[in-house]
Amino acid sequence: MKVDKIIYNGKCQTMKKKAVVDWLAIKGDQIIKTGTGDGYKEYINKDTLLIDAKGATVSPGFIDSHFHMVQTAVNSTCVDLTDATSFDEIGKLIIKEGNRNPESEIHCIRLDVSKLKEHRFPNRHEIDKYWDRSPIWINSIEYQMSAVNTYGILFYKIPFNTVGVLCDEKQMPTGVFTASANAKLRSNILNSISDFYKQNAIESIMGDLAEKGLTTINAVEGGYMFSDRDAEFINALINRKEVYLDMELFFQTLDINRIIEMGLKRIGGCLYVDGTFGMRTAAISFEYKDAKGEHGILRFTQEKLNSFVEECYKRGLQLALYTIGDRAIDIAIKAHERAVDLTGNLSLRHRLEHGELPSKEHIKKAKDLGLIFSVQPTYEYYWGGKGSMYEERLGDYYMETNPFRYMLDQGLLLCAGSDSDVIPCDPMLCIFSAVNRKVKKHNISVYEALEMITSNAAYAIFQEDKKGYLEEGYLADIVVLNKDIFDIKAEDLKEVKVVATIKSGKIVYGDSDNYAKC
Ligand SMILES: [Zn+2]
Repeated sequence: MKVDKIIYNGKCQTMKKKAVVDWLAIKGDQIIKTGTGDGYKEYINKDTLLIDAKGATVSPGFIDSHFHMVQTAVNSTCVDLTDATSFDEIGKLIIKEGNRNPESEIHCIRLDVSKLKEHRFPNRHEIDKYWDRSPIWINSIEYQMSAVNTYGILFYKIPFNTVGVLCDEKQMPTGVFTASANAKLRSNILNSISDFYKQNAIESIMGDLAEKGLTTINAVEGGYMFSDRDAEFINALINRKEVYLDMELFFQTLDINRIIEMGLKRIGGCLYVDGTFGMRTAAISFEYKDAKGEHGILRFTQEKLNSFVEECYKRGLQLALYTIGDRAIDIAIKAHERAVDLTGNLSLRHRLEHGELPSKEHIKKAKDLGLIFSVQPTYEYYWGGKGSMYEERLGDYYMETNPFRYMLDQGLLLCAGSDSDVIPCDPMLCIFSAVNRKVKKHNISVYEALEMITSNAAYAIFQEDKKGYLEEGYLADIVVLNKDIFDIKAEDLKEVKVVATIKSGKIVYGDSDNYAKC
């Protein structure tokens, strides 16, 4: 039999029982043969493309289990404040963008207030000093807070009596928005962005995703703080198959009927049961170390969550609930326990997104209920460990966040995502972060980390029969790396690069020096 492509001289991780093979033969969109030694030679013809993996790891294509696609794409066109450490630095970036595009709104993202020397959001007067000729919107890294200039107050027209419009002593808006006001401002702005703009923005980030080895992403779209139009737009984009990678839509809505009408089999994503550690809104059973008397916020009562979860079971929908603190995980697990009691259905592979602070009891129950934890190892890289934001907020409980080692030892299935673009999408950094935890007892192996973004992630979207493995009959979604990641120091994992990404048999990223026609 003749084949289109052969990857040889690799350490090809099949992800089945830790088996490693030397080569893969690809025909059309599938892997049709795998093997060791030089058995591949019989499949070569004059048109076969040979890809020399040079002894490095070859992995199933990476699957990002939690990715805000429209946000990531649109944000790639915004002013990035990630590195800003003062109002003056923010001002300089705004002036640069304003001079480039003087008539347009200026959207600034990823402001991390804890990095600012002022340790707070700028108010409208402070932003006006830098730019007052067009509307400016600044959003926090976790999306939970915004600021606008005075032009922005007039332009975005958020009613002053909305909860979360912060006012000064004269009862005038300061330009800083939290809670409902922030959510409304965000969704007004996001709703005003055209599909054409979104499509261009998405197309423009595809090259970056291919370079990272991504072949499938779980697109978590719509709902509170986002725009429902994004979910419909992504659904249409999936149906038109206009981008190179596969997207699985998770629509963040409570509207089950709408999900059924759209023909979707799953619901949720960032369907908020609580908030974030950063904003002290994640619901925890102890007091925030840096805010007396605060325990975070639950966005559902137990009763409301029970009835929603029950309905998802009855309608046969896979459900992904956003939970971060232990109190949120607790009510989510209680709702699932009750729904399983009522329906006996354990086959829907429901997910808890993030699930950062589960107790041992939660982990045991989650395992019994067949729940999957969709986790973000890279959070720990940015926010975990001693002296980090988690320690500031949680005190000694920072040592208990994301207990991957214990979760896996208890038999829980973990899939991983970036939560782009809260955190940049970088699968190798994800592996690095899971293997090199700052609190060492939570470390997992390279293989376990790889499972989280390949085979486990495929299982978490019911696609383990066609993705997540390098085996005959599987889709040819393949990543070739520049190192054998099982034979380098753990601290070097984040320097590993992708040399080729193959999606459904097509090379979507690659360094052509590696390839030779026969
Ligand atoms: Zn998210």
